[in-house]
Amino acid sequence: MKVLIASPEVYPFVKTGGLADVTGSLPKALKKLGVEARVILPKHKQIPDNFPFRYRNLKVSCKISSKTVDAEIVESEYDGVIAYLVEKDEYFYRDYLYSTPDGDYLDNAERFTFFSKAILEAIKVTGYVPDVLHLNDWETALSAMFLKVHYKDDPLLSRVATLLTIHNLGYQGIFWHYDMHLLNVGWEYFTPEYLEFYGKINFLKGGIVFADIINTVSKKYSQEIQTPEFGLGLEGVLRKRSSDLFGVLNGIDYDEWNPEKDERIPAKYTVQNLEGKRINKVALQRAFGLSINEEVPLIATISRLSEQKGFDLIIEAIPQLFTFGVQYVILGTGERRFHEELQAIKTRFPDHFGLKIGYDNDLAHLIEAGADIFLLPSKYEPCGLNQLYSLKYGTVPVVRATGGLDDTIIDYNENPSLGTGFKFYGFTKEEMIEAIERALAVYRNKDLWLSLMRRCMEQDFSWERSAREYIKLYQLAMEKHGSNPGSI
Ligand code: ADP
Repeated sequence: MKVLIASPEVYPFVKTGGLADVTGSLPKALKKLGVEARVILPKHKQIPDNFPFRYRNLKVSCKISSKTVDAEIVESEYDGVIAYLVEKDEYFYRDYLYSTPDGDYLDNAERFTFFSKAILEAIKVTGYVPDVLHLNDWETALSAMFLKVHYKDDPLLSRVATLLTIHNLGYQGIFWHYDMHLLNVGWEYFTPEYLEFYGKINFLKGGIVFADIINTVSKKYSQEIQTPEFGLGLEGVLRKRSSDLFGVLNGIDYDEWNPEKDERIPAKYTVQNLEGKRINKVALQRAFGLSINEEVPLIATISRLSEQKGFDLIIEAIPQLFTFGVQYVILGTGERRFHEELQAIKTRFPDHFGLKIGYDNDLAHLIEAGADIFLLPSKYEPCGLNQLYSLKYGTVPVVRATGGLDDTIIDYNENPSLGTGFKFYGFTKEEMIEAIERALAVYRNKDLWLSLMRRCMEQDFSWERSAREYIKLYQLAMEKHGSNPGSI
C-alpha cells in the first residue's frame, strides 16, 4: 500500500501545533508496518537549511483563476521518510505560516488553493502515485474536490482514494464568495450541498463532502462534532457522512518524548528510578525564577494561548490557585489579550507564577520533566498531545473531560485503581479548582502520588496502535473509492 500524507506543516521541517507532530510521526509508524508513506508540504521559510534538498527539475503548473502558477517540487527526507516540498516563494516564503499577530494573510484562499492543486500535480511529476491521498485540515481539503472534479478521467489520479483528517474543526478555511474563481470550478459547486457556507466558501466543507473517508483525532471528538455545541455549523454535513466518519487517537512519538532518553532535559529518569524528576523540578523552578522548593506542588501548562485551551478559566482561577500554596508555570504564545493578562498576573505573583511567552520546544521538554501536575482545561480538544506527553513524564494531568482528553485520561477519584489523572466536566472555574484540589489532596500523600505517577508513566499511547487503525481506514477509503484495496 502506498500513501501520500499532505499537510501544511510536518515535524521536523516546520511546526506550529499538534498537526505537525502527527503528520511527522505517522509516516514513520506506517513504514514500520510495511506501508510506503511519504509526505508533501509547502516549502516554508521556517524550514531550516540543514535538511537535504534535492532539486530534480520537477516542475508543476496549476491554474489559479486565469493565471498559470508554476512551482518546483523539491525532494527531501527525514528519518527515512521521503518528503516533497512545494517551493513557491511568493506564497510560502513568509514570516508566519498562516497569519501574523494582526490576523490571517489576506491571500490564504489563494495560497492553499494552490497548495491543494499542487499536491495533485506533484503526484504526476514525481511518479509517486499513492493508493490513498491522506489530507489534513482545510489547507489540503480541496484536493479531494479537485480530484473528483478536475481529474475524474485522469488514468492515474482517478484511482487515488482520499482520507481527510480533521485535526480541529475550529479552523475551516472560510472565505468570501469572490474567491470562487481561484478554484476553477463552476458556480454549481457554490451550493449548500458543496462549498457554500452561510454565503461564503468553506474549504473544509469541500473536503468533508468529497473525501472518500473522514476521521478526527479521537472517538469522542468525532461524536461531539456531530452536535450543534461542537459542530461549529458543520454538524449537519458531518452527520450526513456519519457512516464514513471515524475517530483515531493520535499517537505519541516516544523517540521524541521519553524521559528515559530525552537529551533536552537535565536528568533522565525511569518508572523505577524517579530521582531525575526531582533534579528537573529544581531546574524548572530555576528556569522560571521561582523559589527553589522540592515539596511545593508545581503545576504547568504548555499551550497556544487561545480561548479553546481554556485560558479564560485559567486567568479567572489563578489568584485562588495561589492560596493553595502551589507554583504555576505557563509556556505559550497566541492571542494578544492573553499575553497581556498573564503578564499582569506575573507582576502580581512573581514568586509563584512563571511565564514564558513564546514557542520553545526545549523548555516544553523541561516543563514536562519537572512539573508535578499538568493543567489542560480545554473548552474543546480534538485529541490533545500534552496530556499524553505528561503521562509519559509522570506529570499527572488535570483535564476537562472533552474530546481526546476524555478518551485518554481516567479520573483517579472515579477509579482509584486505574486512574491516570483528574477530570472535570463543566467548563467552570469552580469545577476546575475542585479537580485541582483533588489532585493536591493525593499529592500530599507521597505513596499514593508515587504510585499514580508510575501508573501514568506506564500508559502506552505509541503510534503503532494508531497507525494500524489508519491502515484500516486507508483500506476502507480504497474500497469506497472502488479501487483494489491491494495488500500491504
Ligand atoms: P494544538 O491544538 O495546539 O495542536 P496539541 O496538544 O494537539 O494542541 O499540540 C500542541 C503541540 O505544540 C504540543 O506538541 C505542544 O507541546 C506544542 N506547543 C504548544 N505551544 C508551545 C510552546 N509555546 N512552546 C513549545 N511547544 C508548544
